[in-house]
Amino acid sequence: DAADPDVRPIELLAREGRRDMHKVRAVVRFNPVADPDGTPRYVAWFEPSHHIAEANADFFVGRFHTMRWSILTPDIAVHWDGATLRTGPGNIRPSAADDDPFEALWLRYYASIFNPARLKIAAMTKEMPRKYWHNLPEAALIPDLVAGAQARELAMVAKGKTVNDRPVPHSLSEVAEAIAVCRACPVGCNGTRAVMGEGPANAALMIVGEQPGDHEELAGRPFVGPAGQMLNQQLAGARIERAAAYVTNAVKHFKYEPRGKRRIHQSPTAGEIDHCRWWLDAERALVQPTTIVALGASAARALLGRTPSINRERGQPMVLADGTTLWLTIHPSYLLRLPEAQRGAEEARFAADLAAVAASL
Ligand code: URA
Repeated sequence: DAADPDVRPIELLAREGRRDMHKVRAVVRFNPVADPDGTPRYVAWFEPSHHIAEANADFFVGRFHTMRWSILTPDIAVHWDGATLRTGPGNIRPSAADDDPFEALWLRYYASIFNPARLKIAAMTKEMPRKYWHNLPEAALIPDLVAGAQARELAMVAKGKTVNDRPVPHSLSEVAEAIAVCRACPVGCNGTRAVMGEGPANAALMIVGEQPGDHEELAGRPFVGPAGQMLNQQLAGARIERAAAYVTNAVKHFKYEPRGKRRIHQSPTAGEIDHCRWWLDAERALVQPTTIVALGASAARALLGRTPSINRERGQPMVLADGTTLWLTIHPSYLLRLPEAQRGAEEARFAADLAAVAASL
Protein backbone atom coordinates (compact mmCIF):
# COMPACT_ATOMS: atom_id res chain seq x y z
CA ASP A 1 0.00 0.00 0.00
CA ALA A 2 1.91 3.02 -1.29
CA ALA A 3 -0.09 5.32 1.01
CA ASP A 4 1.10 3.45 4.09
CA PRO A 5 3.33 5.80 6.15
CA ASP A 6 5.89 3.00 6.61
CA VAL A 7 6.03 2.07 2.94
CA ARG A 8 6.92 5.49 1.59
CA PRO A 9 10.21 5.85 3.53
CA ILE A 10 11.14 2.30 2.58
CA GLU A 11 10.52 3.06 -1.08
CA LEU A 12 12.63 6.19 -0.79
CA LEU A 13 15.40 4.21 0.85
CA ALA A 14 15.26 1.61 -1.89
CA ARG A 15 15.49 4.32 -4.52
CA GLU A 16 18.49 5.90 -2.80
CA GLY A 17 20.12 2.49 -2.54
CA ARG A 18 19.66 1.92 -6.28
CA ARG A 19 21.09 5.35 -6.99
CA ASP A 20 24.07 4.66 -4.76
CA MET A 21 24.66 1.37 -6.59
CA HIS A 22 24.48 3.15 -9.91
CA LYS A 23 26.96 5.79 -8.71
CA VAL A 24 29.47 3.30 -7.35
CA ARG A 25 29.61 1.80 -10.83
CA ALA A 26 30.46 5.19 -12.25
CA VAL A 27 32.87 6.51 -9.66
CA VAL A 28 35.06 3.70 -8.38
CA ARG A 29 38.63 4.19 -9.57
CA PHE A 30 40.85 1.12 -9.47
CA ASN A 31 44.55 1.47 -8.82
CA PRO A 32 47.00 -1.30 -9.69
CA VAL A 33 48.87 -2.84 -6.77
CA ALA A 34 50.46 -6.27 -6.35
CA ASP A 35 49.41 -9.10 -4.06
CA PRO A 36 52.18 -10.46 -1.76
CA ASP A 37 52.92 -13.18 -4.34
CA GLY A 38 53.42 -10.52 -7.00
CA THR A 39 50.17 -11.06 -8.93
CA PRO A 40 48.52 -7.84 -10.00
CA ARG A 41 45.45 -6.69 -8.15
CA TYR A 42 43.32 -3.60 -8.68
CA VAL A 43 42.10 -1.81 -5.58
CA ALA A 44 39.37 0.79 -5.34
CA TRP A 45 38.17 2.85 -2.40
CA PHE A 46 34.57 3.98 -2.20
CA GLU A 47 32.32 5.47 0.49
CA PRO A 48 28.74 4.51 -0.30
CA SER A 49 25.89 6.26 1.48
CA HIS A 50 24.21 2.89 2.07
CA HIS A 51 25.32 -0.70 2.61
CA ILE A 52 25.46 -1.60 -1.05
CA ALA A 53 29.01 -2.87 -1.54
CA GLU A 54 28.11 -6.55 -1.34
CA ALA A 55 24.91 -6.22 -3.34
CA ASN A 56 26.87 -4.47 -6.05
CA ALA A 57 29.73 -6.94 -6.22
CA ASP A 58 28.18 -9.16 -8.91
CA PHE A 59 28.21 -6.26 -11.30
CA PHE A 60 32.00 -5.91 -10.94
CA VAL A 61 32.50 -9.65 -11.13
CA GLY A 62 30.71 -9.57 -14.49
CA ARG A 63 32.59 -6.57 -15.74
CA PHE A 64 36.09 -7.39 -14.51
CA HIS A 65 35.85 -11.15 -14.46
CA THR A 66 39.42 -11.94 -15.38
CA MET A 67 41.02 -9.37 -13.09
CA ARG A 68 41.81 -9.67 -9.40
CA TRP A 69 40.32 -6.74 -7.59
CA SER A 70 39.20 -5.42 -4.20
CA ILE A 71 36.66 -2.73 -3.43
CA LEU A 72 37.29 -1.25 0.00
CA THR A 73 34.63 0.68 1.91
CA PRO A 74 34.45 1.84 5.54
CA ASP A 75 32.10 -1.07 6.46
CA ILE A 76 33.17 -3.95 4.34
CA ALA A 77 35.70 -5.00 1.71
CA VAL A 78 34.81 -7.16 -1.28
CA HIS A 79 37.60 -9.17 -2.93
CA TRP A 80 37.53 -11.08 -6.22
CA ASP A 81 40.38 -13.40 -7.16
CA GLY A 82 39.11 -14.47 -10.57
CA ALA A 83 37.05 -17.38 -9.16
CA THR A 84 35.73 -16.59 -5.68
CA LEU A 85 34.13 -13.56 -4.11
CA ARG A 86 35.09 -12.94 -0.49
CA THR A 87 34.15 -10.24 1.95
CA GLY A 88 36.38 -8.79 4.64
CA PRO A 89 36.34 -6.09 7.30
CA GLY A 90 35.95 -2.39 6.55
CA ASN A 91 38.91 -0.13 5.99
CA ILE A 92 40.04 3.40 6.54
CA ARG A 93 40.62 5.49 3.49
CA PRO A 94 44.00 4.59 1.96
CA SER A 95 46.22 7.61 1.37
CA ALA A 96 46.94 8.31 -2.26
CA ALA A 97 50.52 7.91 -3.38
CA ASP A 98 51.81 11.26 -4.62
CA ASP A 99 53.88 9.71 -7.32
CA ASP A 100 51.32 7.18 -8.60
CA PRO A 101 52.02 7.17 -12.36
CA PHE A 102 48.70 5.49 -13.11
CA GLU A 103 46.78 8.26 -11.39
CA ALA A 104 48.92 10.93 -13.06
CA LEU A 105 48.11 9.35 -16.43
CA TRP A 106 44.41 9.25 -15.59
CA LEU A 107 44.44 12.93 -14.63
CA ARG A 108 46.20 13.88 -17.86
CA TYR A 109 43.67 11.84 -19.81
CA TYR A 110 40.73 13.39 -17.95
CA ALA A 111 42.02 16.94 -18.50
CA SER A 112 42.59 16.24 -22.20
CA ILE A 113 39.12 14.82 -22.90
CA PHE A 114 37.41 17.68 -21.03
CA ASN A 115 35.62 19.65 -23.73
CA PRO A 116 35.15 23.27 -22.59
CA ALA A 117 32.61 23.94 -25.33
CA ARG A 118 30.33 21.28 -23.85
CA LEU A 119 30.57 22.36 -20.24
CA LYS A 120 27.23 22.17 -18.44
CA ILE A 121 27.89 22.54 -14.74
CA ALA A 122 24.33 21.79 -13.60
CA ALA A 123 24.21 18.57 -15.61
CA MET A 124 27.67 17.61 -14.42
CA THR A 125 26.86 18.01 -10.72
CA LYS A 126 23.50 16.28 -11.18
CA GLU A 127 25.19 13.29 -12.76
CA MET A 128 28.05 13.28 -10.28
CA PRO A 129 26.93 14.91 -7.01
CA ARG A 130 29.63 16.69 -5.04
CA LYS A 131 29.42 14.22 -2.15
CA TYR A 132 31.32 11.73 -4.31
CA TRP A 133 34.00 14.17 -5.38
CA HIS A 134 36.41 13.74 -2.50
CA ASN A 135 37.10 10.20 -3.68
CA LEU A 136 37.54 11.13 -7.32
CA PRO A 137 41.12 12.07 -8.15
CA GLU A 138 39.96 14.07 -11.17
CA ALA A 139 37.62 16.19 -9.03
CA ALA A 140 40.65 18.26 -7.96
CA LEU A 141 40.99 19.35 -11.61
CA ILE A 142 37.38 20.39 -12.05
CA PRO A 143 37.46 23.93 -10.56
CA ASP A 144 40.41 24.93 -12.77
CA LEU A 145 38.98 23.26 -15.86
CA VAL A 146 35.66 25.03 -15.31
CA ALA A 147 37.34 28.38 -14.64
CA GLY A 148 39.40 28.09 -17.81
CA ALA A 149 36.63 26.68 -19.98
CA GLN A 150 35.53 29.91 -21.60
CA ALA A 151 39.09 30.98 -22.41
CA ARG A 152 39.81 27.57 -23.94
CA GLU A 153 36.60 27.68 -25.92
CA LEU A 154 37.47 31.14 -27.23
CA ALA A 155 40.96 29.95 -28.13
CA MET A 156 39.41 26.97 -29.95
CA VAL A 157 37.12 29.36 -31.78
CA ALA A 158 40.05 31.61 -32.68
CA LYS A 159 42.11 28.68 -33.95
CA GLY A 160 39.50 26.54 -35.65
CA LYS A 161 38.27 26.90 -39.19
CA THR A 162 34.54 26.68 -38.65
CA VAL A 163 32.30 26.36 -35.64
CA ASN A 164 28.67 25.51 -36.31
CA ASP A 165 29.46 25.96 -40.01
CA ARG A 166 30.58 29.56 -39.56
CA PRO A 167 34.08 30.45 -40.70
CA VAL A 168 36.13 31.54 -37.72
CA PRO A 169 37.90 34.89 -38.20
CA HIS A 170 41.63 34.92 -37.50
CA SER A 171 42.09 38.68 -37.39
CA LEU A 172 40.10 41.80 -36.66
CA SER A 173 40.03 42.62 -40.37
CA GLU A 174 38.46 39.22 -41.02
CA VAL A 175 35.82 40.05 -38.38
CA ALA A 176 35.19 43.37 -40.15
CA GLU A 177 34.78 41.61 -43.51
CA ALA A 178 32.50 38.97 -42.03
CA ILE A 179 30.18 41.31 -40.14
CA ALA A 180 29.75 43.41 -43.28
CA VAL A 181 27.96 40.46 -44.89
CA CYS A 182 26.44 38.91 -41.77
CA ARG A 183 22.72 38.32 -42.20
CA ALA A 184 22.24 36.00 -39.21
CA CYS A 185 19.49 38.10 -37.65
CA PRO A 186 16.92 40.69 -38.76
CA VAL A 187 19.17 43.60 -37.71
CA GLY A 188 21.91 42.33 -40.01
CA CYS A 189 19.37 42.15 -42.83
CA ASN A 190 18.13 45.74 -42.56
CA GLY A 191 20.52 47.14 -45.14
CA THR A 192 22.59 49.29 -42.78
CA ARG A 193 26.35 49.18 -42.69
CA ALA A 194 28.00 47.05 -40.00
CA VAL A 195 30.17 48.99 -37.59
CA MET A 196 33.34 47.26 -36.46
CA GLY A 197 35.06 47.90 -33.14
CA GLU A 198 38.10 50.16 -33.20
CA GLY A 199 41.25 50.55 -31.17
CA PRO A 200 44.55 48.81 -30.58
CA ALA A 201 44.41 45.10 -31.42
CA ASN A 202 46.07 44.29 -28.09
CA ALA A 203 44.24 46.80 -25.89
CA ALA A 204 44.12 45.92 -22.20
CA LEU A 205 40.73 47.60 -21.90
CA MET A 206 37.69 46.81 -24.03
CA ILE A 207 34.62 49.06 -23.88
CA VAL A 208 31.40 47.51 -25.14
CA GLY A 209 28.31 49.50 -26.08
CA GLU A 210 24.94 48.34 -27.33
CA GLN A 211 24.85 48.94 -31.08
CA PRO A 212 25.85 51.69 -33.50
CA GLY A 213 23.43 54.59 -33.70
CA ASP A 214 22.53 56.86 -36.60
CA HIS A 215 25.83 58.79 -36.52
CA GLU A 216 27.92 55.68 -36.10
CA GLU A 217 26.26 53.94 -39.02
CA LEU A 218 26.97 56.94 -41.24
CA ALA A 219 30.57 57.30 -40.04
CA GLY A 220 31.25 53.56 -39.84
CA ARG A 221 32.82 54.02 -36.39
CA PRO A 222 31.55 53.29 -32.87
CA PHE A 223 30.58 56.02 -30.40
CA VAL A 224 31.00 59.11 -32.56
CA GLY A 225 27.52 60.63 -31.99
CA PRO A 226 26.07 62.32 -28.88
CA ALA A 227 26.43 59.20 -26.71
CA GLY A 228 30.02 58.96 -27.90
CA GLN A 229 30.71 62.56 -26.90
CA MET A 230 29.28 61.91 -23.45
CA LEU A 231 31.43 58.78 -23.22
CA ASN A 232 34.57 60.66 -24.30
CA GLN A 233 33.95 63.36 -21.74
CA GLN A 234 33.46 60.87 -18.91
CA LEU A 235 36.44 58.74 -19.93
CA ALA A 236 38.62 61.84 -19.95
CA GLY A 237 37.29 62.77 -16.48
CA ALA A 238 38.31 59.33 -15.21
CA ARG A 239 41.71 59.62 -16.96
CA ILE A 240 40.99 56.64 -19.20
CA GLU A 241 42.52 57.17 -22.61
CA ARG A 242 39.90 56.24 -25.17
CA ALA A 243 42.50 55.80 -27.92
CA ALA A 244 44.21 53.10 -25.83
CA ALA A 245 40.97 51.12 -25.46
CA TYR A 246 39.25 48.83 -27.95
CA VAL A 247 35.73 50.25 -28.32
CA THR A 248 33.04 48.07 -29.80
CA ASN A 249 29.37 47.10 -29.58
CA ALA A 250 27.33 44.06 -28.63
CA VAL A 251 25.37 44.30 -31.90
CA LYS A 252 27.16 45.35 -35.06
CA HIS A 253 24.28 46.81 -37.10
CA PHE A 254 22.00 49.77 -36.32
CA LYS A 255 18.47 48.70 -35.41
CA TYR A 256 16.02 51.50 -36.05
CA GLU A 257 12.49 52.37 -37.03
CA PRO A 258 12.03 54.92 -39.84
CA ARG A 259 9.98 57.94 -38.80
CA GLY A 260 9.75 60.43 -41.66
CA LYS A 261 13.32 61.23 -42.53
CA ARG A 262 14.59 60.17 -39.13
CA ARG A 263 15.82 56.77 -38.03
CA ILE A 264 14.71 56.12 -34.45
CA HIS A 265 16.86 53.81 -32.33
CA GLN A 266 15.30 50.47 -31.36
CA SER A 267 16.78 48.27 -28.68
CA PRO A 268 18.00 44.90 -29.92
CA THR A 269 16.16 41.87 -28.58
CA ALA A 270 17.89 39.33 -26.37
CA GLY A 271 17.90 36.94 -29.35
CA GLU A 272 19.60 39.51 -31.59
CA ILE A 273 22.24 40.18 -28.95
CA ASP A 274 22.82 36.46 -28.53
CA HIS A 275 23.20 36.01 -32.31
CA CYS A 276 25.72 38.82 -32.51
CA ARG A 277 27.66 37.58 -29.48
CA TRP A 278 29.63 35.40 -31.90
CA TRP A 279 31.37 38.51 -33.25
CA LEU A 280 32.02 40.06 -29.86
CA ASP A 281 33.48 36.74 -28.69
CA ALA A 282 35.71 36.72 -31.78
CA GLU A 283 36.91 40.25 -30.97
CA ARG A 284 37.54 39.23 -27.36
CA ALA A 285 39.50 36.17 -28.44
CA LEU A 286 41.66 38.27 -30.75
CA VAL A 287 42.20 41.36 -28.59
CA GLN A 288 42.35 39.47 -25.26
CA PRO A 289 41.66 42.46 -23.02
CA THR A 290 42.25 42.03 -19.30
CA THR A 291 39.37 44.36 -18.43
CA ILE A 292 36.02 44.93 -20.10
CA VAL A 293 33.51 47.68 -19.37
CA ALA A 294 29.96 46.91 -20.43
CA LEU A 295 27.89 50.05 -21.06
CA GLY A 296 24.26 49.20 -20.39
CA ALA A 297 22.17 46.05 -20.23
CA SER A 298 22.60 44.92 -23.85
CA ALA A 299 26.39 44.93 -23.57
CA ALA A 300 26.16 43.22 -20.19
CA ARG A 301 23.97 40.50 -21.69
CA ALA A 302 26.42 39.92 -24.51
CA LEU A 303 29.19 39.38 -21.98
CA LEU A 304 27.35 37.50 -19.26
CA GLY A 305 24.85 35.51 -21.29
CA ARG A 306 22.06 36.87 -19.07
CA THR A 307 20.44 40.26 -18.67
CA PRO A 308 21.58 41.59 -15.30
CA SER A 309 20.27 44.46 -13.19
CA ILE A 310 22.81 47.19 -13.91
CA ASN A 311 21.79 49.10 -10.81
CA ARG A 312 22.46 46.17 -8.53
CA GLU A 313 25.62 44.92 -10.16
CA ARG A 314 27.39 48.08 -11.31
CA GLY A 315 30.53 49.46 -9.77
CA GLN A 316 32.05 46.20 -8.64
CA PRO A 317 34.38 43.95 -10.63
CA MET A 318 33.24 40.53 -11.77
CA VAL A 319 35.55 37.86 -13.07
CA LEU A 320 34.51 36.13 -16.27
CA ALA A 321 35.30 32.47 -16.78
CA ASP A 322 38.38 33.29 -18.87
CA GLY A 323 39.77 35.46 -16.09
CA THR A 324 38.84 38.81 -17.68
CA THR A 325 37.58 41.43 -15.23
CA LEU A 326 34.18 42.79 -16.18
CA TRP A 327 32.63 46.03 -14.92
CA LEU A 328 29.01 46.90 -15.56
CA THR A 329 27.75 50.43 -15.73
CA ILE A 330 25.03 52.42 -17.45
CA HIS A 331 24.95 53.38 -21.11
CA PRO A 332 25.90 57.06 -21.66
CA SER A 333 22.75 57.65 -23.74
CA TYR A 334 20.78 57.04 -20.53
CA LEU A 335 22.32 60.25 -19.17
CA LEU A 336 21.30 62.13 -22.31
CA ARG A 337 17.67 61.09 -21.84
CA LEU A 338 17.47 62.19 -18.20
CA PRO A 339 15.81 65.47 -17.21
CA GLU A 340 18.39 68.13 -16.34
CA ALA A 341 17.54 67.96 -12.62
CA GLN A 342 18.50 64.29 -12.33
CA ARG A 343 21.44 64.27 -14.65
CA GLY A 344 24.06 65.59 -12.22
CA ALA A 345 23.65 62.78 -9.70
CA GLU A 346 23.60 60.07 -12.38
CA GLU A 347 26.64 61.55 -14.12
CA ALA A 348 28.47 61.46 -10.81
CA ARG A 349 27.62 57.75 -10.39
CA PHE A 350 28.83 57.03 -13.92
CA ALA A 351 32.03 58.97 -13.20
CA ALA A 352 32.51 56.95 -10.01
CA ASP A 353 32.06 53.67 -11.92
CA LEU A 354 34.68 54.73 -14.46
CA ALA A 355 37.01 55.95 -11.72
CA ALA A 356 36.83 52.48 -10.13
CA VAL A 357 37.73 50.94 -13.48
CA ALA A 358 40.62 53.40 -13.91
CA ALA A 359 41.91 52.58 -10.42
CA SER A 360 41.82 48.86 -11.21
CA LEU A 361 43.75 49.37 -14.44
N1 URA B 1 25.53 53.70 -28.65
C1 URA B 1 26.20 52.54 -28.60
O1 URA B 1 25.88 51.67 -27.81
N2 URA B 1 27.20 52.34 -29.42
C2 URA B 1 27.60 53.23 -30.29
O2 URA B 1 28.55 52.95 -31.00
C3 URA B 1 26.92 54.46 -30.31
C4 URA B 1 25.88 54.68 -29.50
